[in-house]
Amino acid sequence: MKTVGLLGGMSWESTQIYYQLLNEGIKQRLGGLHSAKVVLYSVDFAEIERLQHQGAWEETAAILSSAAQLVERGGADFLLVCTNTMHKVADQVADSITIPLLHLADATAEHIKRQGMSRVGLLGTRFTMEQAFYVGRLQQHGLEVLTPDEPGRERVHRIIYDELCLGEINEVSRRAYREIIDSLVEQGAEGIILGCTEIGMLVKQSDSAVPLFDTTAIHVQAAIEAALSDMD
Ligand code: GLU
Repeated sequence: MKTVGLLGGMSWESTQIYYQLLNEGIKQRLGGLHSAKVVLYSVDFAEIERLQHQGAWEETAAILSSAAQLVERGGADFLLVCTNTMHKVADQVADSITIPLLHLADATAEHIKRQGMSRVGLLGTRFTMEQAFYVGRLQQHGLEVLTPDEPGRERVHRIIYDELCLGEINEVSRRAYREIIDSLVEQGAEGIILGCTEIGMLVKQSDSAVPLFDTTAIHVQAAIEAALSDMD
């Protein structure tokens, strides 16, 4: 079994889900006392969040690249950056290490295409919903991407940073997400990407009329396949 490298802490609320799903998945596949081989580096998210909102992406890339190098030195065979937003600097991080980076948007797009869908709604931080590093990457895979209107994007973004990354789950916010999902479905979305690793804490399949694609679960599934790829 290969060793999974996790670059986490963004936020730790979702990194613990990565850790749990990885171990549950390996146990399910291999049985008994089997568990995932993992090297985790968890950053201080307050520092990252401040730099994100200042637009200081090069500084975040430097922090994540040094962390990624430590994960590689710890023995990881490949790396997952456990946040959609920080894939903004995925290329710089990938260039700083010699192990492969398992890209979250690629894994998500491939998963959706296997379901035969092409038009999807996207929920995530403003960075993820509004910038080419993520939307463009999905489009390169042939997906048509619908995002909420301006007030909707602001609402989705604020709930992520002010509540979900702090571990707060509010019914009012769940209702807001449900309404935003409904409006994307009315515009023709065949499925909805939960393009932020904490959204699955708030929104469940029962909140949506169309399939939800939880990027945390999809990323973990891709990691399990990669980890087990040297076994038969
Ligand atoms: N975990 C979130 C994501 O998947 C947001 C936190 C961050 O800004 O990294 O985008």
